[in-house]
Amino acid sequence: MVVGEASGVAPEVDRTARLLALLRKREADLLLVTNPVNVRYLTGFTGSHGLALIAAAQDEPENGGEGHLFLTDFRYETQSAAQVPALFKRRIAAIDLIEAAVKELAERQSGRLAFEEGAMTVKQHAHLRELLPAQWELVPCGGVVEELREVKQPAELARIRAASELADAALREVLEAGLVGRGERDVAIDLELRMRRLGAQAPSFPSIVAAGPHAALPHAEPRAEPIPPNTLVTIDWGAQLDGYCSDCTRTYATGERLPEGAREVYELVLAAQRAGLAAVRPGLNGKELDAAAREVIEHAGHGKHFGHGLGHGVGLEVHEAPRLSRTAGEQPLRAGAVVTVEPGIYLAGRFGVRIEDLVAVTDDGPLVLTGLEKELTVAR
Ligand code: ZN
Ligand code: ZN
Repeated sequence: MVVGEASGVAPEVDRTARLLALLRKREADLLLVTNPVNVRYLTGFTGSHGLALIAAAQDEPENGGEGHLFLTDFRYETQSAAQVPALFKRRIAAIDLIEAAVKELAERQSGRLAFEEGAMTVKQHAHLRELLPAQWELVPCGGVVEELREVKQPAELARIRAASELADAALREVLEAGLVGRGERDVAIDLELRMRRLGAQAPSFPSIVAAGPHAALPHAEPRAEPIPPNTLVTIDWGAQLDGYCSDCTRTYATGERLPEGAREVYELVLAAQRAGLAAVRPGLNGKELDAAAREVIEHAGHGKHFGHGLGHGVGLEVHEAPRLSRTAGEQPLRAGAVVTVEPGIYLAGRFGVRIEDLVAVTDDGPLVLTGLEKELTVAR
């Protein structure tokens, strides 16, 4: 059962109500939702082929409109009946859902049809324009559902926390089995298998396991190469559970005799990570949060070795709004957002360190969801 989000109301009902206010602000009459993650968020539908048509004026009595629509094809008739709440009228269409949506539009007089420009191919857009009756105006409205998704409801936060706990547990098992002498790829596969056995639907993304100089590549691909003793190994992984993702990175020592400077760089990244975490609160924007951690690294002369942003939002997708980086917008962070804090230092040809926690933004300060220790740990 879904934990009550607005006192017993299905989460989709609450989400749609909040969306209507945003659509009215943008003077859109209808929103065509084609991004499958946004379709899932609004309708609960987890299949691969569905779209939603949201009517902005749906709750106004003078509007005798058709209300919200959900469209899918024959393959998902039974599944959508079970998943999509009565708030949506369901239509089972032939394979071209855009054509079916436009047919539904023809029943309504005219207006502004908002669409998700980031979730439509040029071909689909041309198709839509060609089919659309002349009295309808097409207006780009991307990011509007993402803006809602940014603030997690309590049941969503609970799912992200559960995914994070599962990922922690899988890594603990892998560490117990040992790292040294095993191929990076073998460790990555082992980690993913354990996540699945613990109940994950899938990893949130392909796991990164990178030892020694290979860890100087922030997004290193695991190799067959065995993990040597007395070096640093970076592991970046996450679990997807109930649709929601987790994301975490830890860097371990595989012995006491580390390369020169490795221990100092580890401590520096950890200090920056803690400074970034401590700054997480509503009202600060992504640039300010990034700066809180980056300052620590820059001050120590390693600014140019930290070339990526501090973090990103996590939810139904492993990378979503908001972004924490030097180029993030001015939009302040809101309570309910879940973000990563993941500074790193990468020294080409030598080693790399990244430490990443998943953290919920609350009015009482940062709520860290990752449960694994961060002190430099020897894992053989
Ligand atoms: Zn990560
Ligand atoms: Zn991340």
